Amino acid sequence: MNFIETRGNDGQRPVQVSFSEAILNPISSFGGIYSPESIPDLGSDFLKKHINSSYKILAKDIITAFNIDIDSDVIDEALNLYDKFDDKNNPVPVVKVKEDLYVSELYHGPTRAFKDMALQPFGLVLSSLAQKRNENYLILAATSGDTGPAALETFKNRSNVQVVCMYPDGGTSDVQRLQMVTEDAKNLKVLGVNGDFDDTQSALKRLLGSDEFREQLKSKHINLSAANSVNFGRIIFQIIYHIHSYLELVRQDAIAIGEKVYLNVPSGNFGNALGAYYAMEMCLPVEKILIASNSNNILTQFINEGRYDLRDMAVTPTTSPAMDILKSSNIERILFDMFGADRTKELMQQLDTEHHYQLTDNEIASVQTIFSADFCNDNDGKEYIKEAFESGYLMDPHTATCFKTYDTCREKDLKTIIYSTAEWTKFSPVIANALSGEVDAEDREALQAIAKKANISIPAMINELFDKEVTHNLIIDKEHIESEILNFI
Ligand SMILES: *Cc1c(COP(=O)(O)O)cnc(C)c1O
Repeated sequence: MNFIETRGNDGQRPVQVSFSEAILNPISSFGGIYSPESIPDLGSDFLKKHINSSYKILAKDIITAFNIDIDSDVIDEALNLYDKFDDKNNPVPVVKVKEDLYVSELYHGPTRAFKDMALQPFGLVLSSLAQKRNENYLILAATSGDTGPAALETFKNRSNVQVVCMYPDGGTSDVQRLQMVTEDAKNLKVLGVNGDFDDTQSALKRLLGSDEFREQLKSKHINLSAANSVNFGRIIFQIIYHIHSYLELVRQDAIAIGEKVYLNVPSGNFGNALGAYYAMEMCLPVEKILIASNSNNILTQFINEGRYDLRDMAVTPTTSPAMDILKSSNIERILFDMFGADRTKELMQQLDTEHHYQLTDNEIASVQTIFSADFCNDNDGKEYIKEAFESGYLMDPHTATCFKTYDTCREKDLKTIIYSTAEWTKFSPVIANALSGEVDAEDREALQAIAKKANISIPAMINELFDKEVTHNLIIDKEHIESEILNFI
C-alpha cells in the first residue's frame, strides 16, 4: 500500500511514498498530508471471522490489510504493548451504561487517556524504523495535556529517538503536569513555557518549519519529526478499537453481526473519528458517526452547514481541554477521501489564505450521509457527569460531550457506542465540581473526594505521581525554546 498526497503533487516530491516514509516525513506537497491510496475492503466475513479473536489478533489482521512496509515481528512487538493495559486480555472494555448506550473505554493504558491507544505502538514502530535506517530522530511535541505524557511514555528509553515536550505552564492539570515532569529518562526533555497553549504550539510550528533549525540538527546527524495526530502511523492504530468495540457488542448479545450501530466520538483533531470512518469503509455496519464537540464547535458547523469558518473565532478554554481545537487537522483526509485531491487543495488553500470555506449542497449531503454533529457546553457536560454518576457510571468531561449527541443526533433506536477518551483521574477537579459543587479543588483533594464518594480507589500510577521526584523543572520564555533544545541534543 502506498500513500498519496491530500493536496496533489507539486512535481518536487515523489507522487507516492511508502508507509514508513509517510510517518517519518509527514508533510507533503502544498502543505498537505499523506493518505492511503485506497482503503482496504475487509469483506463481509471479516467480522464473523473475528468474533472470538483477542484484541491483538484482530489488530494484526486489520494492519496486515494495509500491506505496509513494516516487518511483521515489529508489528507484533508493537501490539504486545497493549499487554501493559489494565486487562491484558481486553485492553478496551466496553460497558453498558443505559438502554442502547455502551461506553468503549479507551483510557486503560499507562497515561490514562486514549492517546496511549495509538502512541504506545507508534513509538515502538518509529524507533525500530530509525534503528533499521541507522538514523536519529528528534520528536518535538507541544501539548495541552494528554499528548505530552503519552508521547514521553512511549519514547522513553527507546533507541535513536529523543523527545522534547513543551507544555504551557499553568495550562495543564496537576496530574498531567506531574506525568511529564517526573519522567526520568536520558532521551526526554520537558519544558514548561510561559504563555498559553497557542503560544507553545506556534513556537513549535515555527521550529518545524525553520530550515535553519533543520540544518543545525542535520549537522548533528539528527532528523526532525513530529508525533502529532495527522501522522498516519497513529491513525492506523485508531481503526482497530472501533471494530473491536462492535465485536464486543456482538459478544455481549447486544447486537447481531450486521446490525447497524451509531459510533459517538468526542472530537478535536478528528483522529479518533477518522479511524471510525475508515472502520466503516473497511467493514463496519454503522448508521452514522456522531461527532461531539464542546463550545469550540467548529466541527458542528462544518457537518451541519458545510461551513468551515475561522474568521472572528478564538479558542474558548473549556472543561474538556483536549477538544479545545479550531483547526481540526484530520478533516483534510475526509475531504480528500470524499472529494479528491484537487478539491481538497482548493478548500484547504482557501482556509489558509481566507480563513474559511463553504462546501456545495451536494458535498454537504455526502458529508451528512456519514456524520451528524452537535456540541455540549460545560454546564450541560457537568449535568451529564452528575446524571451518569447517579446511575452508577463515573466519566470524564470529554466523554460527557457525547451524551449530548446521544440525546440530540440519533434518528433511530440503534445501539450506540460512545468512546471514553480519558479516565476520571485526569480531570478530577471538574468532576468534583460536577458531583458536589466543589470549586477550585486541587487535583489531589478532588481525587480523594471522588474516590470516597464513588467508593473506588485511585489507580496507583496516579497516586504515586504526587510523591515522585520532579526531574524537569525548567520554565522558560518561548524565545529560549530553540536554544534549550539545541543544548539538550
Ligand atoms: C485527544 C483527545 C480528544 C480528541 O481526539 P481527536 O482524535 O483529536 O479528535 C478527546 N478527548 C481526549 C481526552 C483527548 O486526549
